[in-house]
Amino acid sequence: MSDPHANSFDVLVLGGGSGGYATAFRATQLGLSVALVEKDKLGGTCLHRGCIPTKALLHAGEVADAAREADQFGIQAVFNGVDMKAVNAYKDGVVTKLYKGLQGLAKARKVTLIEGEGRLVAPDAVEVAGTRYTAKNVVLATGSYSKTLPGLVVDGERVITSEHALALDHVPDSAIILGGGVIGCEFASAWKSFGVDVTIVEALPRLLAVEDEASSKALERAFRKRGIKFKVGKPFEGVERTDAGVKVSIQGGETIEAELLLVAVGRGPTTANLGYEEHGVKMERGFVITDERLRTSVPGVYAVGDIVPGVQLAHRGFQQGIFVAEEIAGLHPQVIEESGIPRVTYSEPEVASVGLNESKARELHGEDKIETVQYDLTGNGKSQILKTAGFVKLIRVKDGPVVGVHMVGARVSELIGEAQLIYNWEAFPGDVAPLVHMHPTQNEALGEAHLALAGKPLHVH
Ligand SMILES: Cc1cc2nc3c(=O)[nH]c(=O)nc-3n(C[C@H](O)[C@H](O)[C@H](O)COP(=O)(O)OP(=O)(O)OC[C@H]3O[C@@H](n4cnc5c(N)ncnc54)[C@H](O)[C@@H]3O)c2cc1C
Repeated sequence: MSDPHANSFDVLVLGGGSGGYATAFRATQLGLSVALVEKDKLGGTCLHRGCIPTKALLHAGEVADAAREADQFGIQAVFNGVDMKAVNAYKDGVVTKLYKGLQGLAKARKVTLIEGEGRLVAPDAVEVAGTRYTAKNVVLATGSYSKTLPGLVVDGERVITSEHALALDHVPDSAIILGGGVIGCEFASAWKSFGVDVTIVEALPRLLAVEDEASSKALERAFRKRGIKFKVGKPFEGVERTDAGVKVSIQGGETIEAELLLVAVGRGPTTANLGYEEHGVKMERGFVITDERLRTSVPGVYAVGDIVPGVQLAHRGFQQGIFVAEEIAGLHPQVIEESGIPRVTYSEPEVASVGLNESKARELHGEDKIETVQYDLTGNGKSQILKTAGFVKLIRVKDGPVVGVHMVGARVSELIGEAQLIYNWEAFPGDVAPLVHMHPTQNEALGEAHLALAGKPLHVH
């Protein structure tokens, strides 16, 4: 006789990306029975088409640059070119190893994996290939897809998205990147390192427009120096296929030609035709609307990750997943503050930030209530050893805590961990200034900036 409860769980998660699998892992840790439905591969965008493969490409680019520039450090090396097949093998090797590890974790955590495309068929049920699974709590975690613009057709050959770009089997001679956000700037950086002639086209007035203006300016300066071309404040108007590739028209009558066009204009939520709206889940522009406890408008139905409006980042998904599992288990976890989530663009140079940018801080706290300090990496020994340029910029409320940390320079992604503690623990510059930072490290720059903001600068003119 079949067990009538075999398809019934405490938690049913739809989508096995960063948000979904984090929910599942934490929920089983808390003793809940969990099923996770995934139509493709456990790990989702981040592992297979996002964070991990792009960072592997960027690292391969860094190695290419190191070989090209070795003589600056007295080392004789010859750069002979990029073997894209071998770069892809390295990149795919990293993904495969992590994927195996993740599958092992899912097994060890006793998550029931259901392979196939799921659909919400009731507030407490998901159907996969004709089988109905029910649960006391359903967590929607179906992630996102690469968007395009109205009338701009992605053909996967001349006009591509980041998914196609990660699978390219050759280094193009030239590329136009539509969108100067995180994904656009990361591909521009990696491709330039591989020798591609890159032009970014961005409708907004600067690259990485959501970052602090000083960070955008520093990145633009560095990109100019590297020969990465960009046109900002220039909306895209159209693309034509040519014998050699594409011809892109931008506002003002200008045209640019290249071998291919990468469309990097943002990510849309994967929520269409999944039964969400049908069963009463409140949506806006395709996103699932939740309260701060990640509850949707339907009792017992939660949402995590890229389908929830906010920064679309893997570590946000992880934390939201942990939060929802703990909420379901009745642990009353602390609400996640969106501006406390660190953000990094892993280009060369890197751009990292947490908290408010200067204009937002002035808007929120008052024009005359904000104090800033910008510590230049020229004063930082390790940065000089690496020959990188950039800064650490701190924003504080006068007589109050640090409300924003912004950094530009090689490897600054590794400094954001301390910065997010400072921000999230609402530290005053005077709390951080006496803490000792190892010398010589780039991390010291964060310490020096806090010394300066606390009124006792050390290596600052
Ligand atoms: C090129 C690129 C680079 C990125 N780099 C970074 C980075 O460096 N750092 C960072 O933090 N973030 C990065 N991101 C963003 C990050 O990948 C996402 O924020 C993260 O993957 C979101 O997790 P998620 O669980 O919401 O969705 P996803 O990871 O998209 O997972 C959703 C999963 O649901 C599955 N699914 C969808 N519909 C169904 C269905 N009906 N039935 C069953 N399964 C379904 C999908 O197959 C998928 O596996 C990058 C993204 C891209 C595209």
